[in-house]
Amino acid sequence: MVELKLGGATVTRIEESYEPNFDAQKFFADWNADVVLEHRAWLSPNHYDEASGFLKLSVHSWLIRVGGKNILIDTCVGNHKPRAYRPKWHMMETKYLERLAAAGVKPDEIDMVMCTHLHVDHVGWNTRLDNGRWVPTFKNAKYVFSREDYDFYQKMDADPEKGPVNGGSFRDSVLPVVEAGLAQMVTGAASLDEGLKVEPAPGHTPGAIAIKFESRGEKALFCGDILHHAVQVYHPEWNSFACLDQDNARKSRKAALEHCAGAGARLMPCHFGAPFTCHIESKGGGFAPRFDGNF
Ligand SMILES: [Zn+2]
Repeated sequence: MVELKLGGATVTRIEESYEPNFDAQKFFADWNADVVLEHRAWLSPNHYDEASGFLKLSVHSWLIRVGGKNILIDTCVGNHKPRAYRPKWHMMETKYLERLAAAGVKPDEIDMVMCTHLHVDHVGWNTRLDNGRWVPTFKNAKYVFSREDYDFYQKMDADPEKGPVNGGSFRDSVLPVVEAGLAQMVTGAASLDEGLKVEPAPGHTPGAIAIKFESRGEKALFCGDILHHAVQVYHPEWNSFACLDQDNARKSRKAALEHCAGAGARLMPCHFGAPFTCHIESKGGGFAPRFDGNF
């Protein structure tokens, strides 16, 4: 289990899946053979599967334990959810909650859930199946959602031409939380409890947020899908197929990397391969990841 200290906080990776799961060329339109040659030393096998040409992307949550509170950032795909359009995520049955328990936390002990945006692989464990109904998995938590993302997807979901959106996850993983009165919508920049700050980082989705954390002088940036893969540290101009606003996605990615390099904040992505987190260094007018040997 990946666990690290950030000041007075303990941060643990709660894995849902980690396997070659997306064709690199389809995921990044800019993917090319030269990039594989240039970066092979770190790329393979943790971040790229050369045999299949698939990216090896992790899907995980970060559990932050700080000041007696348990905070969960992003909630993966979830179990038993029909996602036929993406077979690897269809009707999953993973041991995610068992892994959370192994980290020492039961669902009822989660105080706050934060979704960096409302895509299917960031909201799934918000709810679980109970007698044929989707109910909040973390019933004692407040769930932090971006108001901009919520409004954007609610409108689209209600449009018979466009809904259900995000593979159905808006209906089975977001709405039940709102209906249970557990959602806390944030707009713009906001300071939350326990050294957490939310800042708008639009592009991948209209209301995507960057979550900044600081404890005893140590800093981290939970970036959601501002970056999907470590190759984007070298190529911040590369967007994924899932980035909605191309220009803003690039701007938000560059701003996140500049913040990490300038402030020494550890980058805490949702999908990077092992070791799943890194520092960012300025290098030759651009950036490079520094993976350390802590875990
Ligand atoms: Zn994602």
